Amino acid sequence: MRQDINDILQSQTWDIDSKLWHGKRVLDMNQRELTDICRTYGFTNFLTSSTSQQKLAKTQKELGIEMHGVALQPATMGSDGVDLCSNSTPSCRAGCVVWFGGNPAYTDAKQNAMRKRRDMLVDDPCLFLAVFMRYLKLKSDSCIRKEVLMSTRFNISSDIKYEKVLVLMDDIQTSFSNFASYYVAVTGEAMESSELPMPYDYTKHYDRRRDLNYHLVYSVTDNDVSKAEQAIENGLPLAIVVDTKRGKPLPDMVRIGRYKLSAVDGDKHDYLPEHGREPHAVLLRYKYNAKHKAAKRRVVLDKAILSGFCKVADQIAV
Ligand code: SF4
Repeated sequence: MRQDINDILQSQTWDIDSKLWHGKRVLDMNQRELTDICRTYGFTNFLTSSTSQQKLAKTQKELGIEMHGVALQPATMGSDGVDLCSNSTPSCRAGCVVWFGGNPAYTDAKQNAMRKRRDMLVDDPCLFLAVFMRYLKLKSDSCIRKEVLMSTRFNISSDIKYEKVLVLMDDIQTSFSNFASYYVAVTGEAMESSELPMPYDYTKHYDRRRDLNYHLVYSVTDNDVSKAEQAIENGLPLAIVVDTKRGKPLPDMVRIGRYKLSAVDGDKHDYLPEHGREPHAVLLRYKYNAKHKAAKRRVVLDKAILSGFCKVADQIAV
């Protein structure tokens, strides 16, 4: 039976403050101790970082922001029916870039680690949240020492509403994203940055609302414009995958339903808050799956356009 991970995570307040592992408080652990927990679940690296993922690396190169996020096995690809992307569509699942993309030589190892991280979340949500929070704190401390900014994507390949996941820490009860946003923001305070960095995510949940501490961008993946319109009305920018002729510039304005939005090039870096918080369109060029041979690519692209996963740039340009 299918179960939305958001229902599981919103069913209680998670006391990560007193979460223990083999008698030791997780929030007091060092990196080696955290890695030991991960090894018990069959993987080594909890975080995916700008040193290891191409798109996050662009953010570090372009903007000097060190990125750390979590990549989990998406949707209902696990065997227990728990759904990590409950508003995903058949087309986005078929083209899920983080799951299928990247260097084919590493696909099996990458997918295996994503599966094991997801199993840890489903097996013991409180442990997963405590370990995640502790890693963010350690990375934040390290960024302050190195004098670099940090941000995080909670959902590199999932769609968990972290603004609604309540946790207890330091005698305060608030959302996971609020606590995490503090560790991100302090890296900006330490550098006296005029704009404090914040966590961000793409989401298919068009009913999520703009959050003060967590930047969300609605990812358009079907032909139902009413979802995009609702996201815009909730204050969210939109991410749109587009097919455009090679060498042709992307449009600066696009039309979505009854709205016209200014558009920015989303391929330059991944740090979405940089484009501003008001509704706008982040355009991402369609990327071919490395597994598909040239002859198959046109067929796959046509399918993606038909399903609404990819838009033809000229057709949405204003
Ligand atoms: S919602 Fe995102 S992460 Fe989930 S299956 Fe679709 S593209 Fe992949």
